[in-house]
Amino acid sequence: MSKPTASLLVQGYEVVIGFETHTQLATRSKIFSRAATAFGAEPNTQACAVDLALPGTLPVMNREAVACAIRLGLAVGAHIAEKSVFARKNYFYPDLPKGYQITQYEIPVVQGGSVTFFLDTGKGAADAAREKKTVRLVRAHLEEDAGKSLHEDFIGQSGIDLNRAGTPLLEIVTEPDIRSSAEAVAYAKELHKIVTWIGICDGNMQEGSFRCDANVSVRKPGAPLGTRREIKNLNSFKFMQQAIDYEVRWQIEQIEDGHAIEQATVLFDPDTGETRAMRTKEDADDYRYFPDPDLPPLVVARDWVDEVKAAMPELPRAMAERFVQQYGLPEYDATTLTQSPAMAAYFEAAAQASGQAKMASNWVMGEVSRRLNNEERDIAEVPVNAGQLAALLARIADGTVSNNAARQVMDALWTGEGADAQVIDARAQIDAVIEAKGLKQVSDSGAIEKIIDEVMAANAEMVAQFRAGKDKAFNALVGQAMKASKGKANPQQVNDLLRKKLG
Ligand code: ADP
Ligand code: MG
Repeated sequence: MSKPTASLLVQGYEVVIGFETHTQLATRSKIFSRAATAFGAEPNTQACAVDLALPGTLPVMNREAVACAIRLGLAVGAHIAEKSVFARKNYFYPDLPKGYQITQYEIPVVQGGSVTFFLDTGKGAADAAREKKTVRLVRAHLEEDAGKSLHEDFIGQSGIDLNRAGTPLLEIVTEPDIRSSAEAVAYAKELHKIVTWIGICDGNMQEGSFRCDANVSVRKPGAPLGTRREIKNLNSFKFMQQAIDYEVRWQIEQIEDGHAIEQATVLFDPDTGETRAMRTKEDADDYRYFPDPDLPPLVVARDWVDEVKAAMPELPRAMAERFVQQYGLPEYDATTLTQSPAMAAYFEAAAQASGQAKMASNWVMGEVSRRLNNEERDIAEVPVNAGQLAALLARIADGTVSNNAARQVMDALWTGEGADAQVIDARAQIDAVIEAKGLKQVSDSGAIEKIIDEVMAANAEMVAQFRAGKDKAFNALVGQAMKASKGKANPQQVNDLLRKKLG
């Protein structure tokens, strides 16, 4: 592993983080029963005899849950085990009526793999400010979720809702490869993108469909791994960053004060911004794992894997690489544009229709994304379609409008101006808006020459300065000419003609 860069050290300590992510699989029924998994139903209306652990019931594997695991395995380049084993993890809790959770222990279905992402170093969008990072995965295993204990709404009592009991989960575990809270968030966002992209998880973090546990430790560079504390159930990227930052500071403080870190499970309290120990960590031994005698080993035929592979969508990373090849985009653009299938499709449609890939990329990442972010809207709700954007880009490319004027056209389209029912053709619509707003760029060299002559006459001082070798005076004259044209003159032409006239 690479040596930590000085900038990543926190008060002389290296941060070490490993992630365990519970992704709720988007199957209609539970992992071992036929009960529905839909969120938000009345308590205990979606728990059948199997989920309630009534005597005499037996679990039956949900084939679709296995297909989800295979999809994830293929997406992260992992090995799909031909044979994996379900185990019982024994513990008592009121929301676990069987007294054990069915999970995979020694032999999980997905083994190895990795997740690669870009780290936004916060210095802007320049490629130099992006760092590529790969986090290795240990495994991903199938398991069932437990029910929920409800403490609100009951006085002196707790309610038990078993609707969630038996909901299929895929727990995705990383090696301790993550080195900062920023890397942790970037990893989690990338994983979130992958599981939603391949359709195995709805990604709804508020509803608990994607929950991360962050194992955090600190050490002096070069020292063996420190003792970790596990922050449970982080269900927002913001809390994730806050919780890890707090935990790191807390651990360093403890060590600096001469205290040893005790392995523990902690919870993050968003109200105080602090992590708090929930329990000291159990060892695997405490759970008395053993193979579940009710379930045969899970056998995944090669043919099935091939079948799933053939039906996989193009993955975000592969698509990003294709964007680099096919459209000559920088890696940063390609990665940003493949945030979601909808964003990628929007870019591709605009790039192809306009023949201006880099310009389309700049506009989708800049003007379009900025407006969407401001309005907290998703790309699916973008009010300017890809055909309209393409038509606008074509008008920038052919010199009809400047970039600046194009932004004004965009503003107009965004708020529905020019959305005349009679104008169906995107190009005609864009041209109509340009015309109506008088945004057409002046590219008539006669008209521009006239403006330049006037500017030169009115600014004899600057002209003299330029001729005396003061280069800055040139830009000032261009500025004057642009101003005189009310920003409509073609800047390239102004530059060329002015240079010619100045000799
Ligand atoms: P357990 O089975 O007790 O949960 P694992 O060995 O499976 O423990 O590790 C769980 C997670 O903790 C993994 O993501 C792993 O990378 C991470 N991890 C292990 N040791 C450390 C450590 N010293 N610091 C940070 N993370 C760690
Ligand atoms: Mg674990």
